[in-house]
Amino acid sequence: MSENKKAEKIVAVKGMNDILPAEAPLWELLENTTESILKSYGYQKIVTPILEETGLFARAIGAVTDIVEKEMYSFTDSMNGDLLTLRPEGTAGTVRAVLEHNLVYDGPKRLWYKGPMFRHERPQRGRYRQFFQFGAEAIGFTGPDIDAELIMMCRRLWDDLGLENIRLELNSIGDASERLRHRADLIAYFEANDATLDAEAKRRLHTNPLRILDTKNPAMQELVNGAPKLLDYLEGESLAHFNGVKKILDHNNVPYVVNTRLVRGIDYYNRTVFEFVTDELGAQGTVCAGGRYDPLIEMFGGKPTPAVGFAMGMERLIELMKSAGESAAPSQCDVYMVHQGEAAQMQAFVLAERIRDAGLDVVLHCAAASGAGSFKTQMKKADASGAAFAVILGDDEIANHVAAVKAMRGSATDTQQATVPFDDVVEYLVDQIVGDDYDHDHVHYHH
Ligand code: ATP
Ligand code: MG
Repeated sequence: MSENKKAEKIVAVKGMNDILPAEAPLWELLENTTESILKSYGYQKIVTPILEETGLFARAIGAVTDIVEKEMYSFTDSMNGDLLTLRPEGTAGTVRAVLEHNLVYDGPKRLWYKGPMFRHERPQRGRYRQFFQFGAEAIGFTGPDIDAELIMMCRRLWDDLGLENIRLELNSIGDASERLRHRADLIAYFEANDATLDAEAKRRLHTNPLRILDTKNPAMQELVNGAPKLLDYLEGESLAHFNGVKKILDHNNVPYVVNTRLVRGIDYYNRTVFEFVTDELGAQGTVCAGGRYDPLIEMFGGKPTPAVGFAMGMERLIELMKSAGESAAPSQCDVYMVHQGEAAQMQAFVLAERIRDAGLDVVLHCAAASGAGSFKTQMKKADASGAAFAVILGDDEIANHVAAVKAMRGSATDTQQATVPFDDVVEYLVDQIVGDDYDHDHVHYHH
């Protein structure tokens, strides 16, 4: 290469991460574990677009929230002038889809989604501009039972992932009329103490005073601790609902603490709110947040339909899994095809396809910048691939219509290398690798 000026390096957008192959198996473990638990509770997958009309989020999330005030990636579609937003969360899109397709016409639905979310926040540990969430939404269920079920499903996930030290914080923010009475008392209380309020609290005082309770400002902790507690305003049905959730959790020995200051940053929540929190992640300790949002669907023009859900932050869970020493094996292939010469390469392609037909994972050696690779180079690659067997084809093998099949791991077989006719290679490998016990990883395998 000449000494030409190098092109300027293009890097990822700030706050948006790559998940590299070395990390992917841990993500896969998290995804597979979560999905199998969701399935075991009867939740069904829903996939909605990453882009939605901006109005959807403005309406669903509420105008005076962190998300809508300052975190959305919104833009005008230059083709037609539509106002669009990269989804900052998954509930709005899910509810839109449920209404658009009338999914709850025949009764309530348990749904789940996963995928990237986008928020223009200050990037820091556990807080990114693109991040991944798993979420569940139970739509059409009224009682405390489904709230408890969602919470217990999360609990099971932490257990299955081997994550300890995640505590459940629980609260109820009651119904609208209860919040209204509380709000009046809360505003009066803060007004009487306005010398202690910071600028953000002052701004929120008449728009979203409940959010002041969420403040992380140390100077305001004493003030918010002494504030009127919404829980004390609950009565009738909403008090019974909260007690119902606690009763099921107690009966199932699910530990929790009632945190009377726990509110949600999103306007559509009512009654049950909960968070799973850890002290192991620094300031960003909430790994899962959820609650009931009974008013939302009617706000969207649907029939009044109760709903409850949660969303969990996958980056934070991955970090917890790593610090718990959790690791996932890198993906390995079963067979690595080594070949030398054109005739061998042609035969290697044919054999590789046949072996894959039998459900095994095959990596076929392909030429790199350094060339096609000597036998020695290729065997090194075979070793590094983690393959159980190398299938080796050279001039001699082609002439004799056989392949050399070499066991790459000591325990795989007693014969270190076998000479196998082309037509028997598949059966030989399946025998050696799959053996008698059907391996569920090899779902394509048919006898
Ligand atoms: P916070 O008060 O920390 O900003 P939030 O109320 O905005 O949280 P939710 O909208 O309830 O968070 O999102 C649910 C979960 O998604 C969070 O508990 C967290 O685990 C994860 N999460 C939210 N925002 C981010 C982000 N910017 N980066 C990574 N994970 C996030
Ligand atoms: Mg936030």
